[in-house]
Amino acid sequence: AFDTLMIGGGPAGAAAAVYAARKGIRTGVVAERFGGQVLDTLAIENLVSVPHTEGPKLAAALEEHVKEYEVDIMNLQRAVELVPASQPGGEHEVRFESGATLKSRTLVLATGARWREMNVPGEAEYRNKGVAYCPHCDGPLFKGKRVAVIGGGNSGVEAAIDLAGLVAEVTLIEFMDELRADDVLQKKLASLPNVKIIKGARTTEVNGDGTRVNGLTFEERASGELRHLELEGVFVQIGLVPNTEWLKNSPIELSERGEIVTDERGMTSVPGIFAAGDVTTVPYKQIVIAMGEGSRAALGAFDYLIRS
Ligand code: FAD
Repeated sequence: AFDTLMIGGGPAGAAAAVYAARKGIRTGVVAERFGGQVLDTLAIENLVSVPHTEGPKLAAALEEHVKEYEVDIMNLQRAVELVPASQPGGEHEVRFESGATLKSRTLVLATGARWREMNVPGEAEYRNKGVAYCPHCDGPLFKGKRVAVIGGGNSGVEAAIDLAGLVAEVTLIEFMDELRADDVLQKKLASLPNVKIIKGARTTEVNGDGTRVNGLTFEERASGELRHLELEGVFVQIGLVPNTEWLKNSPIELSERGEIVTDERGMTSVPGIFAAGDVTTVPYKQIVIAMGEGSRAALGAFDYLIRS
């Protein structure tokens, strides 16, 4: 059995493992895919102190750092169920799709999140070639260019406002006949000269020249007519889904959006079970934030161990 076990091997789980291992406690990391979302990323330019890196390179560096310590890394294992300890200070149990079970006195849940995709032709093909999901990450790559933002909720409207300060022209596309974002955001958006808003529109295809995005096709839902926009970038902002489906039958408190609720030490509603990174309610899903959160959760877990 472990003293602390990280479920998830992205930036949050990796940082937690380094911090826990440095306390000399029995530490393990189990991940479906060690590296997490970082593996799907090309350029990373906001990991402070590292001006430029690439996803696979950072994922390899995370693994290398964890391997500096005595940490059991178990890759390609998908957690399917969590059974919390029956009494305080007892062992929690995690069950995996493979049939394996692991026990640990503390856990750090760091299963991350995934961007909801439009699932239209061209989206996957041009991912990282004009199709983007994170304005904080990729906005500067579109300086002076034309982009569309798909989605008129808070994240879409925030993205459009953010991008309007960087790019030449933003077209916000909303499926419904009204935007769903907060009023103040909608007012701010309407005040910007280089933003156009199209409502009642269903994106049907991301167009490209084989190498990069060069346009977007959408259907005007009222008329059923197809329209085409020429542009260089498409930011998809239709939701970030936390990977918490496997916790649905556990007592871990989740928010309305399914994110794990934690306290200031990263502890969940169940004593001894901590959480960190994109899977939690902590806002602004970023690598540095996930690393900070993972470190905090590991220190929280250590603190819990020495007190129980
Ligand atoms: P994740 O990276 O999502 O890792 C989750 C881990 O949990 C993975 O190992 C996964 O396999 C595992 N897992 C999930 N479910 C299970 C399960 N049931 N059982 C076992 N393991 C499981 N951020 C930046 O700061 N800068 C950028 O430039 C940047 N660019 C991005 C570009 C793209 C295309 C994407 C998708 C994201 C980008 N981000 C960027 C966001 C950043 O990648 C995330 O904020 C960060 O990876 C979150 O780390 P995490 O450890 O919380 O979760």
